[in-house]
Amino acid sequence: MSESSAIRVCEMGPRDGLQNEPEVVPLDAKVALVDALSEAGLPEIEVGSFVNPALVPRMADTAEVFRRIRRRTGTVYAALVPNQRGAEAALSAKAGKLSVFASASESFSRRNTNASIAETLDRFTPVFELARAEGLPIRAYLSCAFGCPDEGEIAPAVVARWGRELLDRGAGELDIADTIGVAVPVEVERVLEAVTAVGVEMSQLAMHFHDTRGTAIANAWTAIRRGVPALDSSCGGLGGCPFAPGASGNLATEDLLYLCERSRIATGVDAAGVASASRGLASCLGRGLPSRVLAATCAPVLDAPTRGSSQHHSDRGGANS
Ligand code: MG
Repeated sequence: MSESSAIRVCEMGPRDGLQNEPEVVPLDAKVALVDALSEAGLPEIEVGSFVNPALVPRMADTAEVFRRIRRRTGTVYAALVPNQRGAEAALSAKAGKLSVFASASESFSRRNTNASIAETLDRFTPVFELARAEGLPIRAYLSCAFGCPDEGEIAPAVVARWGRELLDRGAGELDIADTIGVAVPVEVERVLEAVTAVGVEMSQLAMHFHDTRGTAIANAWTAIRRGVPALDSSCGGLGGCPFAPGASGNLATEDLLYLCERSRIATGVDAAGVASASRGLASCLGRGLPSRVLAATCAPVLDAPTRGSSQHHSDRGGANS
């Protein structure tokens, strides 16, 4: 396996980020966030989810967000859907990609979707059929791939089994997710070895890390070195952890972009634009966000009045402007 010289950064902030933050973000702020992220050149943004609004009230305005955003050529606007009804709503909203969500942990699956893993996959059949008929790509998340709050460690062979099954049933992309932020790089390597051993191609993979224990950037680096072509991240590090209140959220987009830029790995994304999007949201929330790079570029010593003088202090990959 060889390291990537370019990766696709998939922005999770508007969906996985805002869904797991304590504040309810107004519709206008959501639209402004997606528009700012689009302008930063992100190739993929998960805009929201079409789930039961009684269960996930924060995502109840997803159709309206889709209606109002300015779509940029070159950005794919994805929607998370749990079933056929959600897929139909996503198609009406003109989503460009559908995401489904399964778990590698049987007990997490029952807790999260009230169904076994196998039953969850059965619910995806009409979703896959609708996507195929419309020519839309499908991403399948496999959550709790490194650990589950109920079951503890998850064996790489279990991840490989369900990942293989999701692709065989029609998903075009398998997104292996460390939902509770427990993974370390050696485990990333073991999981990648297990999924490639069952015939999954690197080109079919994405990975999704949480920074709950400070390991997200190390795991992302390991995935990149192993040839994973797509990494998920969230502007500002939005997203918290539903099982660890107060913990850091998703891998921050700013931190991933910094790593890539200084490592000469192309992303096509404007880091300053992402930082600007995060700052806009932070001011709406009235608090800071966990991204290390965002915090570093907001530090008073770097808050120079002009781009020229600030570059003297900041690293070349920094998002300060
Ligand atoms: Mg996440």
